[in-house]
Formats: sequence, C-alpha cells, structure tokens
Amino acid sequence: MTPLAPRADFPLLAASPALVYLDSAATAQKPQAVLDAITAFYGSDYANPHRGAYALSVRATTRYREARERVARFVGVAEADTLIFTRGCTEALNLVAAAWGRANLKPGDQVVVTAAEHHGNFVPWQQIAIERDCAFVVAPLNADGTLDLFALREKLAPRTRVVAFNHVSNVLGAVNPVKDIAAMVRDTAPGAITVCDGAQAVPHMPLSIDALGVDFYAFAGHKMLGPMGVGVLVGRRAHLEAMPPWQTGGDMIEFVHDDHSTWNALPHKFEAGTPNVEGAVGLAAAADYLDAIGMAKVHAHGAALARFAAEQMQRLPGVTVFGPPAGGERGAVVSFTLADVHPHDLASILDARGICIRAGHHCAQPLMRRLGVGATARASFGVYNDERDVDALIAGMRAALTMFGHATV
Ligand code: PMP
Repeated sequence: MTPLAPRADFPLLAASPALVYLDSAATAQKPQAVLDAITAFYGSDYANPHRGAYALSVRATTRYREARERVARFVGVAEADTLIFTRGCTEALNLVAAAWGRANLKPGDQVVVTAAEHHGNFVPWQQIAIERDCAFVVAPLNADGTLDLFALREKLAPRTRVVAFNHVSNVLGAVNPVKDIAAMVRDTAPGAITVCDGAQAVPHMPLSIDALGVDFYAFAGHKMLGPMGVGVLVGRRAHLEAMPPWQTGGDMIEFVHDDHSTWNALPHKFEAGTPNVEGAVGLAAAADYLDAIGMAKVHAHGAALARFAAEQMQRLPGVTVFGPPAGGERGAVVSFTLADVHPHDLASILDARGICIRAGHHCAQPLMRRLGVGATARASFGVYNDERDVDALIAGMRAALTMFGHATV
C-alpha cells in the first residue's frame, strides 16, 4: 500500500521526511497546489469582491464565484447558490441552529441529536433547545458504536423539529446511513429538518449531497486539504429562502431603510461582510487535487489503512479498539486505548518518535461518557499515509507497553 499522493506534494511533509502524521481527522496537511492557488489569488486577482466597478474587483468576484461552483460540483450540489461559505463546520452548524432554530422552534418542540456527535453538532442544538424551551433528546448507539436506528425511530415524535447527526463519527469512524435516516425522518416526523455533519465524510468519500435528501449538510475545508477558516453549509433552497439571516451587515443586504432592511439573494444573504475568498479559492484547489486522485480511491485507501491499523493494534496486549468491528464500514480513523497507558502519555511517547496522534475526548464528551472512558488515542489517515506509518505507530505502541512494564509478545 503506497501513499495515494506523494509526500513531495506536501511541503510540510517533504521538509520533515521522518514525520509520521496520523492526525488528518483533526486537520489535513496541505498540498503545494492549494498554497499556489492562494498565492495566485493574492498575486493576480486580489481586491474586495462584489464591490468595485473596476476590472480587478470583478476578477476577485469571479474567482470567488468559480470557487463556489467548483466546491458545489465536488460535493454533488447542482445549485451552487445553495452552498454558503462559512468560517468552518462549527459555524455552519451554528448558523442553522441560530437562524433556523430561532425562527422555527417553539416551546415544547423536540430537538434530537445522536450520542456520537462532535460538540459542534451537539452544543449548538442543546443551547437553542434550552433557549427555546424545547425537549433535547440524545439518541443512543448500539454496543459497537453505530447509531441505533430503531431507538432513533422511537424517539421521533409529532413535535420533533430537528434531527442532527453525523455522516462519519470523528471518534468511532462509524458511517451513518444518511439517506435512510433522512427518509425515516421524512416519513416519521415530517415536521423535522435533518442536519448532517459531514466534517469527516467529505474529505474521504465520493458523495452527492443532493442525493442524500437531508435539509442541511455542513463540512470544513481544512480537513479536506483546504485552508483553515473556510467551511460550507449546504441547505435546501426553500429553507434558506424562508429563514432569516444569521449575521447582518455589509454584502448580505438588498436595501437598508431607516426602520428595516431587506436581504440579498442566496448565497449572499448568509455571508455578511467581506468574504474569505482566499479560503474558497484554496478549497476549490483542494477539490481539484482530490478529484485528480479520485474520491473512490481516497475512500478505499483511508478505509484500508484504518482496517490495517485496527488489526495490527488488536494483536497487542491490552488494546481496545472502539467503533465498528472488523469488516464493518469504517472511516479513516481508529480510536483506541492501550492497557494502562493514558492516551496523553501514549501521545507523548509517540511524539518523541516523530508520530503525531490525537489524544483526549475529541470534542465528544457525551460519547466518551457512553464509552466509559475519559479519553482515547486516535490515529487518522490521509492520502499521504501508507502502511509504513501504521508500522511506526505499532512499534511506538510496543515501546510504550514496554515502558509501562508490559510484555509485548
Ligand atoms: N464535526 C466533526 C465530526 C468533526 O470531526 C469536526 C472537527 N474535529 C467538527 C465538526 C468541527 O469542525 P471545525 O472545527 O472545523 O469547525
């Protein structure tokens, strides 16, 4: 298994040949092509878009529009003006909770999230539910960490207005059947919107958001080789047109009267202020880079590395791997604990060997409570990883076991 993308394409990895980067679920390293696209924007087309009557500003506006169209094509969204650029996945989810939630949630309504949500798709719903005096329900998981679809169906009630769930869990790697969940919610709770957090799906699998049938879908640019500070919210046109804006100010208005204002057309209604053109342009370049590899290959590669890592780990004494069992569908992440080695100690021991993993609660404390752990270690994979990186991880885990006085054979 060789990397899908040469390390030489990634300046940081090329500069540190011994570095083993296994934290792509937190953020992915950037290919030179993304950095070049950003530099080209600043070097050739930089001005404030949507403003000037001069050619340079028109070029900046065009770059921004083209970037939106490119990203929409990458995620299978036919109408690019229903794709809103945000500051990240978290901001996209906050936008829905605040703008749609404040306009639509009434006391006594029900908001449902799953127990496997990242805080980004948990806390905004919890807070709007508190604010609007709604019931807040956490749908349970099966023993293997997958969503319990029967229990979810049972939670759905006539007053369910929101069902928020992830596409791929950032801790467990479990993949939710998004289309089936959306159909089930439409049938069982037709007054509810479905909100899918795709932060861990978009970087790793071919996908058409339009085909999923959800009302809102959010993801982050920096996990799919794009820059930090840019994310995406895709929404159904009818919702986006009916709901009020979230932030207000420049760019998002049509007319500002002394006593009221009217709103710009989509997508600008939801993009108050000077937009992050650099972020959008970089994200479009990341889409080009990933499409040149082929998302089917990216998916197979990530899943194969995660499977290989889980198998290798399970040969070590005292390892617990969380999430779907061998053979189950899994994203490109493996969360685990290692005997009595605290995940933070393990991360430090690995760091001394040049191996980067994540340790902690992964912004998923409700899930950690249900797993009965305070923290896990997590290895996650990108297009620049191969099985030698897994070998290095396993060797580091063996060394940690030895340091803690465990036999490793
Ligand atoms: N949801 C999931 C599943 C994630 O993994 C993350 C990032 N860890 C987020 C939401 C939040 O993304 P961001 O911090 O880029 O807004």
